[in-house]
Order: sequence, then structure tokens, then C-alpha cells
Amino acid sequence: MKYELVVGLEVHCQLNTSSKAFCGCSTRFGNPANSNVCPVCLALPGALPVLNRRVVEDAVKLGLATGCTIAPSSILARKNYFYPDLPKGYQISQFEEPICTEGLLHIDTVDGRRDIRLIRIHIEEDAGKSIHDIGQDTYIDVNRCGVPLLEIVSYPDIRTAKEASAYLQKLRQIVKYLGISDGNMEEGSLRCDANVSVRLFGDEAYGIRTEIKNMNSFKNVEKAIEYEMQRHIDIVEAGGAIVQETRLWDADKGETRSMRGKEFAHDYRYFPDPDLVPVLVDQEMLERMRLELPEFPEARAERFVSEYGIPAYDAGVLTVEREVADYFEGAVVACGDGKTASNWVMGEVMRTLKEKYLDIAEFAISPERLGGLIKLIAKGAISNTIAKQVFELMQTDASMAEEIVEKEGLAQVSDAGAIEATVDEIFAANPKQLADYREGKTKLFGFFVGQCMARMKGKANPQVVNEVLKSRLDN
Ligand code: ZN
Ligand code: MN
Repeated sequence: MKYELVVGLEVHCQLNTSSKAFCGCSTRFGNPANSNVCPVCLALPGALPVLNRRVVEDAVKLGLATGCTIAPSSILARKNYFYPDLPKGYQISQFEEPICTEGLLHIDTVDGRRDIRLIRIHIEEDAGKSIHDIGQDTYIDVNRCGVPLLEIVSYPDIRTAKEASAYLQKLRQIVKYLGISDGNMEEGSLRCDANVSVRLFGDEAYGIRTEIKNMNSFKNVEKAIEYEMQRHIDIVEAGGAIVQETRLWDADKGETRSMRGKEFAHDYRYFPDPDLVPVLVDQEMLERMRLELPEFPEARAERFVSEYGIPAYDAGVLTVEREVADYFEGAVVACGDGKTASNWVMGEVMRTLKEKYLDIAEFAISPERLGGLIKLIAKGAISNTIAKQVFELMQTDASMAEEIVEKEGLAQVSDAGAIEATVDEIFAANPKQLADYREGKTKLFGFFVGQCMARMKGKANPQVVNEVLKSRLDN
């Protein structure tokens, strides 16, 4: 490949504050259209905005988490443009003096760790929504006007479509660990625009770029960037010129199409919002936010390895999402066995969540109850097979594993006498297999184990079954 892809991403992250950025209106999603509004978010004459403190704190947290410089004073500006879903005629944003600058995000790729630099993170408000799919008309819902966003702008450091999606996933992981956003791409809490260009390998100068919008999943981000890269290459190869413009990704058709000519900063006539004072972040706030930062995935994974003795691979999987890591840690505390807990969380728990389309927060078995189940296995009170049955029952029965085992009579039988009695029964019922075994068909050992377990409904201690069978068959 003689062309190199160059991508910079602009990500809008919706914060999960309960009220809007500049007024007390609710941010609740799903409320009746145009019900979360007031004179401020509609910019009625005389209404005055007041910045939500949480928005500043969240911006500072994300800035600290990505190694940004936090400005002690930053400016809220008006970005002027006309659009039906923007009743104010301008968006409150930050332009010349954003709150966070010059950060860094590490991503893991097949070629190892890569650093993607951040130009800035700034505070802004969302616009409303135009709804085009009800009959012939277009409807406007302004509930989203004034909902707080952070815009995270990267340098054009991304070199493959995979890196772009890795970057986004990393950002999503960080905002979720920070607890400042639900990071949901499909629902629009994380929206990504990509600036794409290509150049010959070794070239210093960037090619002409296009901006792609409307990619609402990680997969679509990859596909759209790959498509756009090829489109650029085809144009350049044919001796044509790339037009700098904004293009829309059409996921159904799998292509990008021209949306509008590229707008430039000067088109927006930015100016400081005269109704809003500078955003001040003093040392006290900076320290307070630093103390509120969570333990981040890498550090947590390392601690899981050293503290709970689980493999690095497990620790990596378990810390992808903060909720899963919390769940795992709750289970370990309850049972004291890191490796078994990680096997259960990565195995049965994750499989069940996937099958039932559940979030771990909605899962019926609390980490404490899972820990209780693991303890029963460790004690030898139930076998692994029975434990899986108990696990199923626990999803509809809120009792502790121990009570369920009692109620359902699932306790493991380790008593050699009871197992010998069963062995006698299966020998009597299978004389041919018994004779064959004694003539040398030792492969039949598994058959006898299976018969024994089936007759005892899986409750026999497999180790004792093995021992009893061995001594009875070979003597
Ligand atoms: Zn309002
Ligand atoms: Mn923006």
C-alpha cells in the first residue's frame, strides 16, 4: 500500500447530569417532546444562563484522566448558526480558550501501544432534534437543547480504521469508569465525527480532508473510514482532486455521500457569551477532582493479578467495564478464591448476560451470592456440574446457594458406601460391558463413570466415583 491514512476524531460525549448545562431543566431521555424546556434553554428574551457546576467538574475529571492541562480560567462562547432545531440561533461552546488542552490517550493495537494526542476537550451544549419520519412533516423536539456535552478533539494521529475504533472504545471506557456518561453509542451519548485524508507514505504534508458524520457504532466508524480512505485513493489515483466537505455515512448502503461544503470557524462568528462569566477552576477544585478519580483499568488489572492471583488475560477481560470489575471483586471478597471467581464471571455469568441481553447491573445473582456458590464448590459440598444447576436456579430464586442446595436436595454425595451401592447396581445392569472391560476394553471406564453419575443424578463426588470404580474394576 503506497498511501497512508490520516484520521483525527471529534467526539461528542453526553454527560449524565440530571439537569441541563445552563438551566434546571431535566435531561431525562424519553420525556414527552418539548416538555424539558424553560425560557433559558429556549433563549427567550431576558433569560440568563447559569453554568451547571457538575459539567465543569466532569470536564476537569476527563481532562485529568487524559493528562490534559486544565485551564484555571476558560471562556464560554457563542457559536452562531441557523438550524431549525437550534431555537437560540447559537450554541454555547468554547472556542479560543477551552477548559482542557494537550492530552493523551493510549490505545492497544496489534502492533502494540499507540499514543493518540488530544488537542482539546471543551464544554458545550447539545441542540434539539428534527424528526423527519412522521408522515410528510418535520417535527422539532427541543428537549435536548442545553444538554451538556464534552467535545474531545484528537490530533490527526490515527493511522488505521481499527485504531479509530480502538480510540473510541478507550474513550468510552474512560468516561464510563469516571461515571460521567453512559457512553452509549447507539443512543447517541457518544457521537463521533472523523476527519479523513490520505497521503503518500513518507510525505509530511497532509492531504485534503473530508469530515464524516453519522457513524453510530464502532463497526460503522471502521467501515466508514475504510470506505472514505478508498474513495480518496481512487480519486487521487485517477488524477482528481478531493473536495473538502462534510459527508454523511449511509450504513444501509455502506457508503459516504456529500452533505454540505466544509464550514470554517470564521463562518460561525464565535464571540464570548456576554451572559456567562469565565469558567474558573481553582487549586482546591483540581485537588478534589483528582481525589475523586477512580482506579483506571490498567492499574486495576495489575492489582487483580497481584492481589487475587489471576492470570493477566483474565484481569484484562474483567476490567474492560467497571461494573464487571466491581462484580468480580465483590464475588472474590465473598468467596476468597480469585481464580474460581474469575472463571465463573468470565464463563457462566458473561454467557448468561449475553444470552439474555442483560447488563451486569440487572443480573439477578449478586456478587455476594455468586461468592456463596463458589464457597460450596470449594468445600466439596456440590460438584461443578451441580453448581451450574444451582446457578440456573439462583436466577429465579433469591435465596443463597446453600439454601437452594438444601431445598432441592442437591448436596454432593462423597460417602463411599452410597457410591459402592450404585456401582453394584450398574455392574448388575451391564454384565456385558463389565466382561468386556475385564477382557481388556479399559476404554469402558468412562462408560461406568457416566452410568454412575446418571444414576446418582450428578450428585456423586466424581473423585470418589473414580476411586471406587478403579478399585472394583481392577480387583
Ligand atoms: Zn431549560
Ligand atoms: Mn461540537
